[in-house]
Amino acid sequence: MKTKEALKIAPPPIPEEKAVSPYDIIICRAGTIGCLHAIINPKPIADKIEILLDELGLGKHIKTKAKGKLLYHMKFKIALAGCPNACPQPQIKTFGISGQARPAATDAHCVECIKCVDICKEDGAIKIIDARPVFDYSLCVLCDDCAEVCPTESIVIEKKGFKVMANGKLGRHPKLADVIKEVATEDEIYEILKDVVEEYINQSSNS
Ligand code: SF4
Ligand code: SF4
Ligand code: SF4
Repeated sequence: MKTKEALKIAPPPIPEEKAVSPYDIIICRAGTIGCLHAIINPKPIADKIEILLDELGLGKHIKTKAKGKLLYHMKFKIALAGCPNACPQPQIKTFGISGQARPAATDAHCVECIKCVDICKEDGAIKIIDARPVFDYSLCVLCDDCAEVCPTESIVIEKKGFKVMANGKLGRHPKLADVIKEVATEDEIYEILKDVVEEYINQSSNS
């Protein structure tokens, strides 16, 4: 049987800048080297969010609570994804977004090539009925793949935006984030973030 000492797992090394920042902000590669699936670029949003967090006093609050010993679990964790594939896992962060693109049918002549149905990974999200695309938005994840492959513009993207999520976490009591808003505008991201940070500061002040 292994001793208790042998079962200990060393934590991964933390880069210096991450060790001093009160935030852990992750963006997917859509904001660095680019990605074919990207609907939005998360990099400029990440930059604005970092400034907003400082303006809201969150960094100062976290550092004060840390009393000179800022550990990873004390950081405010954010993940920003360029599309619904959600590679940086916004669903388990304190705040997260993923890009969305809502498809809609047009009056353009559909040639019934079925490319849209074939590319869709969500079974039943799109069907061709009477030579017209029909969406089930309860199944569609708003990824824009069908609009990308449609040769006739029978499908267009009627709105791009952001799925905004908050209060997800791992650790001792893991929880998936709540979906606060679908297809939000960029301004709505910052408004929601203000509320989330205010609640976060209030809760952690009392703990
Ligand atoms: S989340 Fe989407 S856009 Fe970002 S890296 Fe993953 S697949 Fe690409
Ligand atoms: S947007 Fe994506 S999930 Fe929705 S119907 Fe088109 S391909 Fe399917
Ligand atoms: S909506 Fe576009 S991709 Fe889908 S079957 Fe019609 S023409 Fe083809």
